[in-house]
Amino acid sequence: CSVESEAQIVAVAQAVKGAGAAALRGGAFKPRTSPYSFQGLECQGLELLKEAREATGLPIVTEIMGTEYIDLFEACVDVIQVGARNMQNFDLLKKLGRHTTKPILLKRGLSNTIEEWLMSAEYIMAGGNEKVILCERGIRTFETYTRNTLDLACIPVLRKLTHLPIIIDPSHATGKSWLVDPLAMGAVATGADGLLIEVHNDPAHALCDGPQSLKPEVFDGLAKKLLKLHDFMKTVEE
Ligand code: PEP
Ligand code: MN
Repeated sequence: CSVESEAQIVAVAQAVKGAGAAALRGGAFKPRTSPYSFQGLECQGLELLKEAREATGLPIVTEIMGTEYIDLFEACVDVIQVGARNMQNFDLLKKLGRHTTKPILLKRGLSNTIEEWLMSAEYIMAGGNEKVILCERGIRTFETYTRNTLDLACIPVLRKLTHLPIIIDPSHATGKSWLVDPLAMGAVATGADGLLIEVHNDPAHALCDGPQSLKPEVFDGLAKKLLKLHDFMKTVEE
């Protein structure tokens, strides 16, 4: 979830790279529900992400919370994440559209419809940056057993409505590490273009989102299964 220290982020980056991950996502600026929770290492976190990129070659993805950081992110991040809580921060979306060239990972808002989500993507693209990636991370429903409710139906719906790539975040969608595997498999079977999965070397002591984080060795096993399923799906759909 978050960049915590050089040792933590570099070790996780190396482990996920070994398992086949295409990018490293870690939060430096964290949108936390409580102001007393860990808020992220902020600029120091960005520096540590750069070190992890240097060590592994993985592109880095991290969340932007305000327009004042656009130039800094444009200069040093490979993909800029807009978190669920900022999906309708229209000023941020407009400025990202006009002043960035990096792909924008746009997470679906906690209680937003697919149409509202696509309109937010449109705000970015209308400004000139058409590189938007949509990320479903679960929506709020009456169910409380899981942190959110994963809307896998959004995948075929979005396929119908847009050409934009769709990735699924089963970690924030469920909040429970043991549910990440089945829902990641479901996302691949439903046709997702990618997955965003939280990994931590010591989930019990993670500063944020430990209960939904996988240990590197579990992520490695899951990545192998996902690749197999992905290949199998290609044979089914031939
Ligand atoms: C995150 O990706 O760590 C995050 C805060 O997610 P979301 O914006 O989906 O809650
Ligand atoms: Mn998180």
